[in-house]
Amino acid sequence: MKLTSLKSNVIIEPFRIRSVEPIRFTTIRERQKLLGNASWNPFLLKAADVLIDLLTDSGTGAMSSRQWSAMIESDESYAGSSSYYRFETAVRDITGFKHVIPTHQGRAAENILFSLLVRKGDVIPNNTHFDTTRAHVEHNGGLPRDLLIKEGLEPLTIHPFKGNMDTEQLEQTIRETGRDRIPVIMLTVTNNSGGGQPVSMANVREVSRIARKHGIPFFIDACRFAENSWFIRIREEGYQDKKPIDIARELFSYADGCTMSAKKDGMSNIGGFLALNDDALARECRSLSILTEGFPTYGGMAGYDMEAVAAGLYEALDEGYLRYRIRSTAYLGEKLVDAGISIIQPTGGHAVYIDARQMLPHIPPLQYPAWSLTNALYLTGGVRAVEIGSVMFGLQPDGTEKPAPMELVRLAIPRRVYTQSHIDYLAEVVIHTYGQRKKLGGYRIVSEPTVLRHFSARLEPITAGAV
Ligand SMILES: *Cc1c(COP(=O)(O)O)cnc(C)c1O
Repeated sequence: MKLTSLKSNVIIEPFRIRSVEPIRFTTIRERQKLLGNASWNPFLLKAADVLIDLLTDSGTGAMSSRQWSAMIESDESYAGSSSYYRFETAVRDITGFKHVIPTHQGRAAENILFSLLVRKGDVIPNNTHFDTTRAHVEHNGGLPRDLLIKEGLEPLTIHPFKGNMDTEQLEQTIRETGRDRIPVIMLTVTNNSGGGQPVSMANVREVSRIARKHGIPFFIDACRFAENSWFIRIREEGYQDKKPIDIARELFSYADGCTMSAKKDGMSNIGGFLALNDDALARECRSLSILTEGFPTYGGMAGYDMEAVAAGLYEALDEGYLRYRIRSTAYLGEKLVDAGISIIQPTGGHAVYIDARQMLPHIPPLQYPAWSLTNALYLTGGVRAVEIGSVMFGLQPDGTEKPAPMELVRLAIPRRVYTQSHIDYLAEVVIHTYGQRKKLGGYRIVSEPTVLRHFSARLEPITAGAV
């Protein structure tokens, strides 16, 4: 008799665990005290007081034994280290770009690129600027323009590529602004600020065609290029049989360069790079990087960091890993949807985004419903998430306040860190909190800095006893 192989629907983690880090259980009374001492701002909590930490997927991943062993073999020479050459070879192999400039993280690559390209009054189109990208454009006097397709702003609309740029709006922006005032067109893959939604290859191709027609450089914000490549494979006609690495290579082939945070799909705890084809611009970028990052063959990274990234870029493109990564994020999303909770649909790559406006209609936007839900998740289950709503975006440059377009709570999943039982527990915490949603109250800000206030603002509950 012939035996058949088990076809399982269980997503088993495609790794086994050889090094463990204990996490701390606390009681709700302890957490009330801890959060109160942190001025009701989860950014001010100590990480050791958090059971499951979903603040960000940036730099929080677990490295593989292969990465650690490459790190031991690193070359820490100041100039021309073999670790740099391994890093350069990996980045070139995957992106195809000629010049590879290491940086200490993604925003340093943005700083170098935008300081050189952007002049006062220039317009920079992007699907959606990530917050550091927006800040660097503005810091150099530029005007960031988000040209996302309209489906990208509708949480419940199902569309396979909600990160796509509206190419008609791009053409219109070029017509109205004039080619000379657009020094670069960016595309963020996946679209982090828009829910981790992917961009299709067809859209990348079309943005590239428009950029080339007008002679405008086209750069990719590549932080989650591997996750985006996987979405192309499973959702776009013609890519089902392609390897993720070949999809990534095709994606980069349409661009003139990229900025990258290796803390995401570099599978590393720190690092990044700027890669590009233009010789003259690369020369200027290297000069500037010496000023802010270090010699061009280390640029703010240790030799061992470059080794970790060189290995990590390939691990991020591994099929087994990507299947598990994207499937486990979707699994969490499905559990929440089945319980009646509104999330951005379909789930993106690195996170699930809960629609707090929908869940907490009794809390007005300027009493911060998403902040309230974030705090409640910590109180009920020791989970740390992040508000992406009116605390993060509501403060205007003139000091007034305006509700953000959406009130979201992001549950960002660190790479290779949590298992399915952690995710099951997490879903229970969210659903349990949802069951008590009518008890949640609003918050007010007691003190705040003038920029990026969410990181350090102090808050308090408006109704005492409601927490
Ligand atoms: C994280 C991120 C950045 C910035 O990278 P850092 O390493 O945090 O400086 C830029 N763009 C996107 C889309 C990101 O997700």
